[in-house]
Amino acid sequence: MDDATLIRALVTACCATIEEHAGELTKLDQAIGDGDHGLNMSRGFKAIAAETDALAAMTLGDALKKAGMTLVMKVGGASGPLYGSLLMDMGKSASTAPANEAEVAEMFRAGIDAVKKRGKSDVGAKTMLDVLVPVAETVSEGGDLEAVRARTDEALEATRDMLAIKGRAAFLGERSLGHIDPGARSSALLIHAVCNVLEA
Ligand code: ADP
Ligand code: MG
Ligand code: MG
Repeated sequence: MDDATLIRALVTACCATIEEHAGELTKLDQAIGDGDHGLNMSRGFKAIAAETDALAAMTLGDALKKAGMTLVMKVGGASGPLYGSLLMDMGKSASTAPANEAEVAEMFRAGIDAVKKRGKSDVGAKTMLDVLVPVAETVSEGGDLEAVRARTDEALEATRDMLAIKGRAAFLGERSLGHIDPGARSSALLIHAVCNVLEA
């Protein structure tokens, strides 16, 4: 796949899964947040979809940077700047499509470091990082797509029994227990979408 084909496929798959699951993301955020995660993600990814042609004309790195900036600008909630930082720093780390797994792992690591910085957060706080970080581990260990998918689902489910200590859910204290984190769910959806594209 050349960069343009890859970028189009990634945009299409990511936007489609967010649209399809926007209602579910909203429900999860109604349980432990303010109920706007579906809307926030949908608004951001619709704006990215509207830029598909411009993105496909860029290198993968520049496209990731531009898509990240779009999320920062279009999404009001915490998730906009956080996913925006993820994509922007992934884009800064890899100019063209990564040639091997080690480069994918490095790109992912750079993006996740930016999320940690921006969110002043790390694993164990019941956030998107509780999916992103374990999955990045599996990628850097050389895990195949099946291993990545399995780790994603396991990590997502594990957020259910975590106590939220970052983001709005932290206000709930113990009442955040028993619910999957909305941002962890959107991260899982996006990872599955990327896996499907890479497999095709
Ligand atoms: P908001 O909380 O501003 O309404 P969203 O509902 O769109 O924004 O996003 C909420 C998600 O963002 C949470 O479920 C969590 O995964 C993620 N999140 C919130 N704060 C942080 C943080 N400091 N670090 C990492 N992720 C965070
Ligand atoms: Mg919210
Ligand atoms: Mg909000």
